[in-house]
Amino acid sequence: MSEAKERQHIRRWRLLVQSGALLLIVIAPFLNFYFSIDFVQGWYQSLGIGKLWFVSPLEGLESILVAKRLYLPLLTAMVVPVLLALFLGRVFCGWICPIHFLSDLSDRFLKLFSRKKLRKDHFLLPKTIIWYVLLAELLLTMILGAPLFVFLSPPGLVGREMMMVVFFKTLTLEGLIVVAVLIANFVTRRFFCRYFCPLGGLLAFLGSKRKLRVARDEESCTECGMCARACPLGLNPAIGEAESNYCWNCGECVEYCRESSLTLTWVQGSSKR
Ligand code: SF4
Ligand code: SF4
Repeated sequence: MSEAKERQHIRRWRLLVQSGALLLIVIAPFLNFYFSIDFVQGWYQSLGIGKLWFVSPLEGLESILVAKRLYLPLLTAMVVPVLLALFLGRVFCGWICPIHFLSDLSDRFLKLFSRKKLRKDHFLLPKTIIWYVLLAELLLTMILGAPLFVFLSPPGLVGREMMMVVFFKTLTLEGLIVVAVLIANFVTRRFFCRYFCPLGGLLAFLGSKRKLRVARDEESCTECGMCARACPLGLNPAIGEAESNYCWNCGECVEYCRESSLTLTWVQGSSKR
């Protein structure tokens, strides 16, 4: 496959996976409520497909901290999401999470009205904030004895609001959190995801030694900066930032590199940043 085709291939696959994941969450409550079909139940935080259950690592960890005991079905349901993060990094964020997908769609929509292909980020904070947010969230969960992210996670709220609409014909006030997160993108792309999502932080931590990462060919790279402008997280692959824990392997930089110097590659090494 030519490199240009490979890049389009990544974009198409990402769109397919993102829309499929959102469709599953949108359709499930309709099937449950109107047709009593329970093959798919729940949403991103806790999803049941047939007899298999998948629980998000952060929400699972919160439940363990609150209950102060290990529960085998919960641990089993966390295995696949944890393995995914260990081997592929933050791919949930880059390829599945509805917050990134909706932000991606709004970016593409805005591009239709802008002469510039890529937007600028207006307000930056230290990237390391995400680790403190993760730590603070886990500490608060323990102190309050309540799984905060289970109730307030923006990706979880997308699924929960969908369920509320179908089952109770109403939206909740918490849904405004999703709106606020999407609006913050206008100031800085993926503002919440970069700095304040504890789930993104935990997945980044788990994926620190991931096997899938963006590799750069130093010889062909002209350091034009196109990849850095394309990255929704403001990372600069030309100086090795795609190697960092923060990268969510979305492949956006690979798509935009004119020299085809970047590739999503399965590697043996580990992340150093
Ligand atoms: S950082 Fe959080 S909100 Fe953003 S894509 Fe990842 S899980 Fe979704
Ligand atoms: S460095 Fe590339 S793969 Fe990583 S988050 Fe940025 S655009 Fe996506």
